Amino acid sequence: MKKISVIIPVYNNQQTLVELYQKLVKVFAKIKQNYQIIFIDDGSKDQSYKRIKKICSKNNKVSCIKLSKNFGQRFALMAGLKYSTGDYLINIDADLQDPPELIEKIFNELRKNNHVVLAARRSSSENIFRKLSSLVQHRILNYLIKNYPKQGFTVFGVSKKLVQEIKDRGNNISLLQLEILNYGYNYKTIYYERDKRQIGKSQFNFSSRLNLAIEMITLTTSSILRFCLLLGFILLLASFSYIAFVIYTYFYIGTPFPGYSPIIIVSLFLGGLNIFVLGLLSEYVSLILRETRSYNKFNVQSILNKPK
Ligand code: UDP
Ligand code: MG
Repeated sequence: MKKISVIIPVYNNQQTLVELYQKLVKVFAKIKQNYQIIFIDDGSKDQSYKRIKKICSKNNKVSCIKLSKNFGQRFALMAGLKYSTGDYLINIDADLQDPPELIEKIFNELRKNNHVVLAARRSSSENIFRKLSSLVQHRILNYLIKNYPKQGFTVFGVSKKLVQEIKDRGNNISLLQLEILNYGYNYKTIYYERDKRQIGKSQFNFSSRLNLAIEMITLTTSSILRFCLLLGFILLLASFSYIAFVIYTYFYIGTPFPGYSPIIIVSLFLGGLNIFVLGLLSEYVSLILRETRSYNKFNVQSILNKPK
């Protein structure tokens, strides 16, 4: 019998935890597999930890990694991965937006020797603004990352082999969702309908979504820098040609100097471009700083039922 580790980042999900747990247990009973459920309490401010503690006291296959403060979902996922010991690792959100039954489908693909299984939403009942922002983000990532699935993905499963390879890299992982695509294993994508959040509201607002998108892009590629360099060069050439044109027409054709407006337009444009490229560069510089400082990306305060 195989053991499935399910890692669940939790930030203020008190209302859904018990139902989620019950549904998961049903899934494992149905597929007749051993399991390990690891809740990572990412500094919740509501009663989430209490609820998890109660579940842990009844079932020693359920563990809780309590982080010392809110580090963010990505770090909670890394904490979960670090402590998981199963033959397969699957992540799922704590708010019941993704049906726990998805685990059965992911498991069925993993046992066929797929090292990576991604669950992508076929449709989503999010509002139009959120749909649009994730569409833009996914389109950019599709373009930048060769094997990034078209619709993106939220839930994934990986084999023990891949988990071990990631663990071997120690603290040196930034975003698990991208990391699992970087090892070169083919992945299998399955599709599901994602529900609208029934209870509570999303912990990601516009600015945290934007942050994540910028981070995903800067972590993945530096070709955008090359593009800026090229763009800067072309614009520089264009402005030189424009200067030459103005001088030529002034001296040889006698066209009067056409006034301030073109100068303002050109300087505004080049100034804007400069600041944009500098901003982009500083994103990468700060990325280098964060990645090279060997700080703990998350800090564990306590563990209930340490995963065996
Ligand atoms: N989450 C977390 N730390 C955070 C924010 C979110 O661990 O700082 C967890 C949250 O509990 C949930 C998952 O990440 O299990 C996804 O969060 P949410 O549902 O808010 O995101 P959305 O579904 O809107 O993308
Ligand atoms: Mg959600």
